[in-house]
Amino acid sequence: NRRIVLNSRPQGAPKPSDFRMEKTSVPEPAAGEFLLRTIYLSLDPYMRGRMSEGPSYAEPVALDEVMVGGTVSRVERSNHPEFEEGDLVLANSGWQDYTVSDGTGLVRLDPSLKHPSRALGVLGMPGFTAYMGLLDIGQPQLGETVVVAAATGAVGSVVGQIAKLKGCRVVGVAGGEQKCRVAVNELGFDACIDHHAENFAEQLAASCPRGIDIYFENVGGKVFDGVLPLLNTKARVPLCGLIAHYNDTELPPGPDRLSLLTKTLLIKRIKMQGFIIFEDYGSHYGEFAKTMDSWVNEGKIKVREEIREGLENAPDAFIGLLEGNNSGKLVIQVGHL
Ligand code: NDP
Repeated sequence: NRRIVLNSRPQGAPKPSDFRMEKTSVPEPAAGEFLLRTIYLSLDPYMRGRMSEGPSYAEPVALDEVMVGGTVSRVERSNHPEFEEGDLVLANSGWQDYTVSDGTGLVRLDPSLKHPSRALGVLGMPGFTAYMGLLDIGQPQLGETVVVAAATGAVGSVVGQIAKLKGCRVVGVAGGEQKCRVAVNELGFDACIDHHAENFAEQLAASCPRGIDIYFENVGGKVFDGVLPLLNTKARVPLCGLIAHYNDTELPPGPDRLSLLTKTLLIKRIKMQGFIIFEDYGSHYGEFAKTMDSWVNEGKIKVREEIREGLENAPDAFIGLLEGNNSGKLVIQVGHL
């Protein structure tokens, strides 16, 4: 059993030495338990938060403990009456080959699924985040302008496509021309702006001639600085993530723009609302899964995922996720069915 543990807490951006690969024996399932083998491991930005101590909505990973993570796993051996060898489940096995489970918190997957990895992306947590954040907090209306950053990523790619289904004008923000081409040509966004461009804020303003009605916040940083003056009266800002700040070790350099933010929220009566998907919307999962499954099957939502081979490559792939190296939902193929 190979497992990747937290070797040290990162200062700023994580480095390969913050992780350590270990080998242990394969655990034995006791009565009422079964052995799970990891097929796919999801890599997600929230894992950066779990590597640090400090207040958050979830406990940090302890030093020398296995990194957390959602997985698609196969039942290998079972002493449980309701699970048998070959069953496929959505689990939280973390960055390792094998775990034992008694079934608590697992979601069964259809073993004949053609693309089981999608249960970690568009049909799972990131797709659910896009769906609830946009539809419940964003409340998109026909003809409105929606801006979303990390536009080709797991959440952003779905936000923009749902907004198109709702008849909105969608402007993506992504890192680099290649990603922007994907957003427009493959995902059907109306425009996409490269946040690395010198004149990013001017380009964004030119792409939003009627201002911004919904900004789906995934990143923060200078993207948010560009968005703020363009927000319309009664705009909605689902506050989903702030990936540009996850490696920060102190507050960003001034000038202090906090009062600019609060003044804009006040005079334009803007709603900005943070959410943590399963804490806030867990009871809506069934409704989401049914709707998204049919949208994907009907080709209304296109799926973008990047699958990398090998558990040993998870640290590099994760470090790259925080630098924008991925395009689409990042998944590690740990084993094969
Ligand atoms: P992505 O697949 O979008 O990957 C992360 C992307 O973030 C990178 O590819 C990069 O895209 C972008 N990025 C990284 N650094 C910066 C930066 N400094 N400035 C601008 N963009 C940057 O990840 P997810 O779709 O899984 O997650 C997107 C956001 O949603 C994250 O902030 C995450 O924490 C949040 N989230 C929140 C949840 C909740 O419950 N609130 C649940 C799930 C996710 P590019 O190269 O295009 O800039």
